[in-house]
Amino acid sequence: MSQRLSFIGRAKKIFFRNFALPRVKKVYALENSVQDLDNSVIFSEESEPRFDIPIEFGRREGVEVPLTRITVKHILTCIKNMKRAVYDLGKNPENPRKQIEEVELEELAEFVKTVKVSSIGYTKVPQKLVFRDKAVAYENAIVLTMNMDNDAISTSPSKKSLQSIWYTYAKLSIASNKIARFLRKKGFGAHASPPLGGIALYPMLARQAGMGEFGYSGILIGPFNGPTFRIAAVYVSAENLPIEQKNDHSWIRDYCEQCRRCVRECPPGAIYENAIEQSYGRITHIDNDKCFPYFGNNHGCTICIKVCPFNKTDYNTVKKNFQK
Ligand code: SF4
Ligand code: SF4
Repeated sequence: MSQRLSFIGRAKKIFFRNFALPRVKKVYALENSVQDLDNSVIFSEESEPRFDIPIEFGRREGVEVPLTRITVKHILTCIKNMKRAVYDLGKNPENPRKQIEEVELEELAEFVKTVKVSSIGYTKVPQKLVFRDKAVAYENAIVLTMNMDNDAISTSPSKKSLQSIWYTYAKLSIASNKIARFLRKKGFGAHASPPLGGIALYPMLARQAGMGEFGYSGILIGPFNGPTFRIAAVYVSAENLPIEQKNDHSWIRDYCEQCRRCVRECPPGAIYENAIEQSYGRITHIDNDKCFPYFGNNHGCTICIKVCPFNKTDYNTVKKNFQK
């Protein structure tokens, strides 16, 4: 059910529809052009259309766009870095290197720390994880996570938590492009994939890379900061990345089965006890149509992250207590 927006809510909507959204749509058109590159990994029949948050904000009546002066600045940084990610593809070497040395992986691990990336994982990108109408330049992915500020998230829903989320998006957008440049300098082809929007289903890539497991909240939970992080990727021509073949986090599903705290505390009841199968076969507990209006009208909500026990207690402690 749509609600009537306040004067400020309507003003934000007009600003968003007339200023931010046209810019975002231009970037999307640029992203789609990656399909024309030789050897890119293009979406398949099984691929999902992206649940596109900016488009949804523009489209839905009665849903406020959660903007503040500070978040506008971060959003513009995100858009700029999404554009850069595509433009910089033109700087990739003509014959990129395909093998990365052990010492270069160590250098990469050190470099990502300098741009505040919290953890990295490696995987291959199957076509079905590329969103509909999108493509990635290389099938080898370096998955990046960046922790959000737990103190700010503990105030959710609030302007403070909203700003910290956008701050993380902006920082991770910049980091993904810097990592792509680092790899290009070493002779690899690289395609940065910033967190906003996302060309592929990042949480699924991170799960494949052994970095976590989905909680009932639909959010990936991992050992580095529970559910309190954002994900991005860099696709790279290096074919010998040390891909993790196992995922040790499947116990999280059993934990959720007993916990269900996010199910109880989600204000609009958007998290179901029993998983539902969405179109395209993905299993989820989240009903986006119930979540989105509350999310928009309440500073990006984030209550499901705030209340998750993994947000308050270290992963290994939760695991040890659970296994007792
Ligand atoms: S963001 Fe808020 S409304 Fe959406 S699923 Fe989480 S708790 Fe529910
Ligand atoms: S709050 Fe509980 S049920 Fe929800 S994702 Fe976190 S651990 Fe799982």
